Amino acid sequence: MEESKHRFFCDRMLGKLARKLRLLGFDTVYYPEIDEDEIFEISKDRILLTRDKEVYRRAFAKGVSAYYVEYDNWRAQLRKLMMDLKLYNEIEPFTRCVECNEPLIDAEPDEVKDKVPEYVYKTIESFKVCPRCGKVFWKGSHLNWIKKDMEKLVGEWKME
Ligand SMILES: [Zn+2]
Repeated sequence: MEESKHRFFCDRMLGKLARKLRLLGFDTVYYPEIDEDEIFEISKDRILLTRDKEVYRRAFAKGVSAYYVEYDNWRAQLRKLMMDLKLYNEIEPFTRCVECNEPLIDAEPDEVKDKVPEYVYKTIESFKVCPRCGKVFWKGSHLNWIKKDMEKLVGEWKME
């Protein structure tokens, strides 16, 4: 993974956006319970995404890179963020766990046999697993979700 990739911190109102960013492969942390000083500390090497104008102003004053998220709907949030920061070329689906942001590792079908539906085990050849929580990912349904949604979000983005 390139080091120049954008990394994010989603503030407490942006849990859904955080999961979608992870699904697209972006290193995104989300700790809804922590206080503002901790947020600014963790955000030093990330871009703080916030829905709160005051937090945005204070982050700016402290020299923390921050981005004010305009919309309540995650699709609109994601579309605007992708366009404003030109993130299309950084998309790497299936590289991060949507639950814990951990980089995924390859898994053999036999290793995940007990964790996936039988039809998935029989039809899918390539699996990824999260080393922290054990969640299994495979291209089928997730890929269709990404493809459909992203095509809707950004017309020019094409899946390989
Ligand atoms: Zn996980």
